[in-house]
Amino acid sequence: MKIEMKNGKLVVPDYPAIGYIRGDGVGEDIFPQAQKVFDAAVLKIYGQKKKIEWQKLLAGGEAFETCGEYLPKETLAHINENLIAIKGPLMTPVGESFRSINVTLRQKMDLYACVRPVEYFKGIKSPVKAPEKVDMTIFRENTEDIYAGIEFASETNESHNLLKFLEKELNVHSIRFPKTSALGIKPVSPEGSKRLVNAAFEYALKMNKKRVTFVHKGNIMKFTEGGFRNWAYEVAREYPTFTKLEYDEIKNERGSLQAENEKKAALKSGKIYVDDVIADNFLQQIILNPENFEVIATLNLNGDYISDALAAQVGGIGIAPGANINYKSGHAIFEATHGTAPDIAGKNIANPSSLILSGVMMFEYLGWQEVAELIKIALSFSFRNGNLTADLGGKLSTSKFSDVLIDFI
Ligand code: NAD
Repeated sequence: MKIEMKNGKLVVPDYPAIGYIRGDGVGEDIFPQAQKVFDAAVLKIYGQKKKIEWQKLLAGGEAFETCGEYLPKETLAHINENLIAIKGPLMTPVGESFRSINVTLRQKMDLYACVRPVEYFKGIKSPVKAPEKVDMTIFRENTEDIYAGIEFASETNESHNLLKFLEKELNVHSIRFPKTSALGIKPVSPEGSKRLVNAAFEYALKMNKKRVTFVHKGNIMKFTEGGFRNWAYEVAREYPTFTKLEYDEIKNERGSLQAENEKKAALKSGKIYVDDVIADNFLQQIILNPENFEVIATLNLNGDYISDALAAQVGGIGIAPGANINYKSGHAIFEATHGTAPDIAGKNIANPSSLILSGVMMFEYLGWQEVAELIKIALSFSFRNGNLTADLGGKLSTSKFSDVLIDFI
């Protein structure tokens, strides 16, 4: 049965139709295993009362072999109609004329928030000393920034025309090698920024988080990244917050002690502390003081780097989940964040945890909280007891790893 969005709320039937894209490469190894775990957890919690109606959708290499298209319109239509899908990794077709299928899916469905929770599970090896201090959720803007794909290659008519326009109409003369430069455009809007930041605050409130941080490079890109920062602070005013801007104002007018006291009082009364950090400093801070951050709102490219850097701190991309969501329309695609891993595909050794944890996010989104919790407990138990796949230094195959989870469930 169809999941629907009514009056801004998701209405989930007991037998919801959920589209799944198996994915290419290791997708073939991990998807069936993850699905077994999902079904086992739903059965354990709800018996026959609730069940996912899985509906297979084609995309990527499998779609190309079957129907000659990488992203068939039937797949898009299904997600459009049924709102929610979950997917394994998809190969990006080689060749300049192909765009990433993942990016296309996000843009076609206007899935403006890329949500990446990053937390540490005991038992997993990490390259940092205190990985348990990492517990952050990143909200990465998913539809704008240089990912809009507006780029013109070096020494083409397009780049020469754009250059002429820049020089003549906008008096731009600072391009170092004008004749040969490739040129790109970075659109960032208040609408795009604000809806993303709204999503981050709604999440912070729902999850009782105490700090939201905007990450940007506004010191260099004043109007795009700096614009994001300013619009983000505007959104902060709509929520129960105490911002760094207020702190600085009090400090300047009445001194540091007063600013500290007012901040303490605001936080004690339940307000969220809001600040902003320049992206390069942020990448340093998450290694030095990760415990200082909880919810991050950032632009597309920064979010891309930050998600992978944080994932590495807690054990690598094999366990980092992700979701792409439009909170207004309800559309959401949950996905393994790693690629198709061609080097290990078909060997039954890939780690299915990224996809399984994406499923946890999906169950939370559906409101099937008990199922989400059960799967997460099973994963924690499994990691703690040294049940690990090869990427994490263990010996379990993909299927054995999921069998351990199912036994626990
Ligand atoms: P990759 O993530 O596929 O692999 C990078 C490394 O991580 C490899 O050593 C691989 O073995 C390992 N790895 C990845 N997933 C793993 C897992 N589940 N368990 C254990 N080890 C794992 O990145 P890549 O090699 O740069 O990309 C391969 C293909 O995947 C490309 O076509 C790329 O475009 C695509 N890709 C897709 C997505 C997506 O669908 N979301 C994301 C990234 C890359």
